[in-house]
Amino acid sequence: MIVMKFGGTSVESAEAISRVASIVKARVDRRPVVVVSAMGKTTNRLLALANAAVEGRRDEALRQLAELEAYTLKEGGSLGGQVEEHFRELTDVVKGLAALGEFSPRSVDVVSAFGERLSSLIVAGHFRQHGIDAVHRDARDFIVTDDRHTQAAPLYAETYARLAALRPVAERQVIVLGGFIGATTKGMTSTLGRGGSDFSASIAGAGVGAEEIQIWTDVDGMLTCDPRILAGGHRVKVISFDEAAELAYFGAKVLHPSTVVPAVEKNIPVFILNSRRPEVEGTRIIREAVGCSNIFKSIACKPGITAVHIKSLRMLMAHGFLSRIFEVFAQHETSVDMVTTSEVSVSVTIDNTANLDAIRADLAEFAEVAVDSGQAIICMVGANIATTPGIAGRVFRSLNGINIRMVSQGASLLNLSFVVNGKDLHAAVKALHEEFFANPDPLVFEPSA
Ligand code: ADP
Ligand code: ASP
Ligand code: MG
Repeated sequence: MIVMKFGGTSVESAEAISRVASIVKARVDRRPVVVVSAMGKTTNRLLALANAAVEGRRDEALRQLAELEAYTLKEGGSLGGQVEEHFRELTDVVKGLAALGEFSPRSVDVVSAFGERLSSLIVAGHFRQHGIDAVHRDARDFIVTDDRHTQAAPLYAETYARLAALRPVAERQVIVLGGFIGATTKGMTSTLGRGGSDFSASIAGAGVGAEEIQIWTDVDGMLTCDPRILAGGHRVKVISFDEAAELAYFGAKVLHPSTVVPAVEKNIPVFILNSRRPEVEGTRIIREAVGCSNIFKSIACKPGITAVHIKSLRMLMAHGFLSRIFEVFAQHETSVDMVTTSEVSVSVTIDNTANLDAIRADLAEFAEVAVDSGQAIICMVGANIATTPGIAGRVFRSLNGINIRMVSQGASLLNLSFVVNGKDLHAAVKALHEEFFANPDPLVFEPSA
């Protein structure tokens, strides 16, 4: 049994869904369980229209809703009226939001879940039209989560028990599940966080006891650099769970950072594959790093980062200074990505600035605070970092005068991260890629053409 997950672009149109159907059909004897994302940009569109409703632009919200319905019907079809029925339900929700003028995390989940509820029904329908014996199952009946709406975590024991019960069905038919969505123990709709369908796939894989988890997307696999920042990266043929997780955490959107957790636990290999070029072998993610003559496997980056520099008002960092700082960020539910310290100051990076003003005010009670927005984290990942001396020097020399701040080498010894100004990001990644990937080891990389 295998799990095959198809992302938004892989199911964005009737044509894309047909491609998916032929990919699945060709692998039916491996007993696939299929997990799908919402079609195209549906999740963004749902959130935008719900926000319009909440902000009092009710007509605009309903107009966008009608557009989304037209798109869904055109590309996905009506499924004997089921699609229209979902949109009637969603229209009631949106009208309710407009009346309340309030968008709680719980309602965000109710709204955004429509994307995967619809796409999974639609894809199952298309599969049957292509002669695949497919059945739809509502993922909310299987993925049980805590009640941290919009960022829910699975309750593994209960989730795995329910998924194991699906196995007999999955042995006979192709089950189609929506990714991203789940339900709390009280039955409230929840979601696993943006990009969470990858995570759903790996939870499903662990739960049904799959031998392989395949993440089908719109690139040939994990590349040596983020194609949105720099084109021409090489495909990484094989990488370890630890390395992949580090890259995902620091911006390699191709994989949701939590995806590896269930896969590691059950030691199930994860593949990243291209639904437009199914013949390409993709990236294989496995437990052990394989030997590689290059120091790094890939360069991840996160633009749009804000650095907060916090200086102790006393000369030396007082006892308890760090814990007070982190308390402030925790109180304002803002997670910190990178931290560096000196004798008198601490710098952290955040990507969610929704509560920055409040954080700043609280920190100012015991520290001097300076904020740099428009920064970017660059994170270079590879298991060889641990055993190669002098890497940091080589990295910084290759940057040719680009100003870097906040250098950190993770305790995992798998990554070297630092912050550059956002305007230098492209030049920095280009210089690093030229320095470290000019001669890609053919055992590990497929050089770009
Ligand atoms: P899906 O909708 O299939 O989940 P995503 O957009 O979430 O797809 O992830 C795929 C995208 O991840 C790619 O189109 C690419 O722009 C981006 N990406 C970022 N870093 C990398 C990387 N190192 N290798 C490959 N893709 C990357
Ligand atoms: N549809 C969700 C999102 O856009 C989940 C996913 O695509 O993985 O975030
Ligand atoms: Mg994704």
